[in-house]
Amino acid sequence: MDDLFLRIIKGEIPSSKVYEDADTFAFLDIRPINKGHTLVIPKTKYRNILDMDEAVLASFIRTVQKVARAVKQAANADGVNLIMNNEAPAGQDVFHAHFHVIPRFTDDHVFERPKHTAYENDGERDSVAHSIAEAID
Ligand code: 5GP
Repeated sequence: MDDLFLRIIKGEIPSSKVYEDADTFAFLDIRPINKGHTLVIPKTKYRNILDMDEAVLASFIRTVQKVARAVKQAANADGVNLIMNNEAPAGQDVFHAHFHVIPRFTDDHVFERPKHTAYENDGERDSVAHSIAEAID
């Protein structure tokens, strides 16, 4: 059984499409944070950014930029958030890679401010940076 977003691409589930090319598809989110909130997806199935093929990722991010410019202009917005939730603890509900393109307006207050954390000391911060650097392919 295809995932929800593959069914949207095929037209089996109706959506408000705003863009389509050979590799990518974009449509309005059914529960918009602001009017014009759009989802951009690759046409092939990837769970999220962590397993995406590099060539697909390149066309995906190009479409995200194209759609972000269009959403900002069409919604007459002051800014745009690009958000990608990767895995459930990060807020991912639909496991087909997607970017949220969300038009933002001055003082719209649609997001809570995130909570911050602090490193114990410079040593801990350096050690975290080192372990990430070591993990990069
Ligand atoms: P996630 O939480 O996985 O990052 O975001 C999934 C998004 O998909 C949510 O913002 C949700 O509103 C949207 N969504 C879920 N089901 C549908 C649907 O059937 N149609 C559309 N257009 N959007 C959907």
